Amino acid sequence: MNIVVCVKQVPDTATERKLRSDDKTLDRDAVDGVINELDEYAVEEALKLKEAHGGDTTVTVLTMGPAKASETIRKALAMGADKAVHLIDDALHGSDALSTSYAMAQALAKTGFDLVVLGSESTDARTGVLAAMLAERLGVPQLTLAKKVEVDGTAITIERVAEYGYDKVQATLPAVVSVVEKINDPRYPSFKGIMAAKKKPVETLSIADADIAGDQVGLAGAWSEVAEFATAPPRAAGTIVKDEGDGGTKTADYLATKKFI
Ligand SMILES: Cc1cc2nc3c(=O)[nH]c(=O)nc-3n(C[C@H](O)[C@H](O)[C@H](O)COP(=O)(O)OP(=O)(O)OC[C@H]3O[C@@H](n4cnc5c(N)ncnc54)[C@H](O)[C@@H]3O)c2cc1C
Repeated sequence: MNIVVCVKQVPDTATERKLRSDDKTLDRDAVDGVINELDEYAVEEALKLKEAHGGDTTVTVLTMGPAKASETIRKALAMGADKAVHLIDDALHGSDALSTSYAMAQALAKTGFDLVVLGSESTDARTGVLAAMLAERLGVPQLTLAKKVEVDGTAITIERVAEYGYDKVQATLPAVVSVVEKINDPRYPSFKGIMAAKKKPVETLSIADADIAGDQVGLAGAWSEVAEFATAPPRAAGTIVKDEGDGGTKTADYLATKKFI
């Protein structure tokens, strides 16, 4: 089974994100990049499927991003993925979700795949649409929000989270699946894994290598753009109620003025 995991590098959520003033895209150079949280679960799920199916099953990491994203690729390789494809080209800068899905579908046409595994959303843009867009472009079924994944021959079955519990959803490979948090317990890269990752193959693909049309990606190809941006106003200090035996009344009066009660 040829499993490809889509892994995105995102700004460290602990750092303040800024948009570049020149083109209003996220200033990814100004902050540390980390592996998108849900993609650690996606990598772990792919590795578990590999361990369960063995044989010639391989796990390939696919990342679209600037040179800096290679740190994140190495992390996924250190967890145990076999190899990686880094889709890297200045022309991809500023791609929106539609363009990203087009570019990654072109890369997947090159890598081939039986199963594409993604996180259900990224922590920077959170559009949550890549799995659906990829499945549409690749012409394969998609199974989303998986909290459990099973593959039996060419049949894939997931438990899809729902507010009332879960649905059992089935399809036939090749397919796209997106996973949710807590589907598994991502392993920490061992020292041996980190050392081995340095030798694992990372193929870099430019837009020409992946037959990607330059006018379909990047700022040039984006169907949406950030028109302007404003930082949220600092939170106003709260109201402090000093309890001199009348704390309850004061609180009730405050809630009443705010029409909470
Ligand atoms: C603050 C901000 C707001 C944005 N708003 C929009 C918007 O409103 N509309 C729009 O079209 N675009 C928007 N973008 C651009 C969009 O983020 C990128 O095109 C992005 O790569 C795809 O969207 P996503 O991360 O939201 O995907 P999601 O669907 O949230 O990501 C799901 C999964 O897709 C995979 N994935 C996503 N990107 C990559 C990648 N580059 N490499 C490998 N795997 C990947 C990961 O497995 C991830 O877990 C925005 C970007 C930022 C930073």
